[in-house]
Amino acid sequence: MTRPSVARIDLDALRHNARHLQALHGGRQLAVLKADAYGHGAVDCARALRGLSDGLAVAFVDEARALRAAGLTAPILVLEGAFDADEVTFAAAASLWLVVHQDRQLHLIEQASLPDGALQVWLKVDSGMHRAGFAPERARELHQRLQADPRVGSVTLMSHFARADEPGCDLTARQTALFEQATAGLPGPRSLCNSAGVLAWPSAHRDWARPGIALYGADPLLRPQGCGLRPVMTLASQVFAERWLAPGEPLGCGTGFTATEPTRVGLVALGYADGYPRTAPTGTPVAVEGRRSRLIGRVSMDMLTVDLTGLPDAGIGSPVELWGAQIPVNEVAGLAGTLAYELLCNVKRVPRHGV
Ligand code: PLP
Repeated sequence: MTRPSVARIDLDALRHNARHLQALHGGRQLAVLKADAYGHGAVDCARALRGLSDGLAVAFVDEARALRAAGLTAPILVLEGAFDADEVTFAAAASLWLVVHQDRQLHLIEQASLPDGALQVWLKVDSGMHRAGFAPERARELHQRLQADPRVGSVTLMSHFARADEPGCDLTARQTALFEQATAGLPGPRSLCNSAGVLAWPSAHRDWARPGIALYGADPLLRPQGCGLRPVMTLASQVFAERWLAPGEPLGCGTGFTATEPTRVGLVALGYADGYPRTAPTGTPVAVEGRRSRLIGRVSMDMLTVDLTGLPDAGIGSPVELWGAQIPVNEVAGLAGTLAYELLCNVKRVPRHGV
């Protein structure tokens, strides 16, 4: 049998999430599709969001190039701003919008030979994340400089939150206030919110939202009761072999698990090379035949093992869900010591199927 592992992508759930976020934020929405739409397939997601988002956002010009090559005509914002001179020319020709957050990029734009009004720029102000962005006290001068440049068609003011996923943390309110102060009176639209900002910080909603992870149905606030979002990806496989372990017998690589009682083990042909985290410990939930069971033993490169002991009806061919509607990806990520972002982005080897 061919390997039954698959990432099922529910584009209706993606559309549902986009509508949900739109209803919360109002304003316009850029769907963040970087890293191949967080592992969901950027071209398919972009097509599915036609008419529901006002634009797309990616990290790098190459990602935008691939979307244009696939025929997508929506505005695309390039978030990370790691562009060179050729990419500035391409951005202007392909109607990409560029985030600018350091002087080197301003110089590249100023040296480029472009038609008037060709470039749409998002000026990034560092309001407290201290990663990328201009110091707030420079916002006014740089905004004026960009506006005075005939090649620049429009300037949007933006910033990015460091801890919006922590509702009890006052940094988001302080970042918002600093951004407001730095940009007071300047013309043009504003954009502050990622997913957590949209979900938890209505006072920071502005003209544009930039949700990523919530579009894919993972709640950045990790609320146990859900939040109106639907998971878009189901990572699934089947049991392809089974065996019994006697008490005292260890299982798999290393010392991950030793049976203390007769234990029936199911083998699943999906491992850390498929994006399932090697750090997921014994006990991490899985669903077998729609019932919750647990991972046992260490995750290998191409294989993992699940407990079938309490599931007498399960065996070779039984469906296994690693995450999706039954097993929240946030739960797996928490046990594996990481975030849903990393798990989803790492799903690259298994085929993606639309549902
Ligand atoms: N905006 C910017 C500038 C980002 O870098 C990102 C992602 O890292 C996002 C928005 C989307 O963030 P999230 O996936 O948390 O919604």
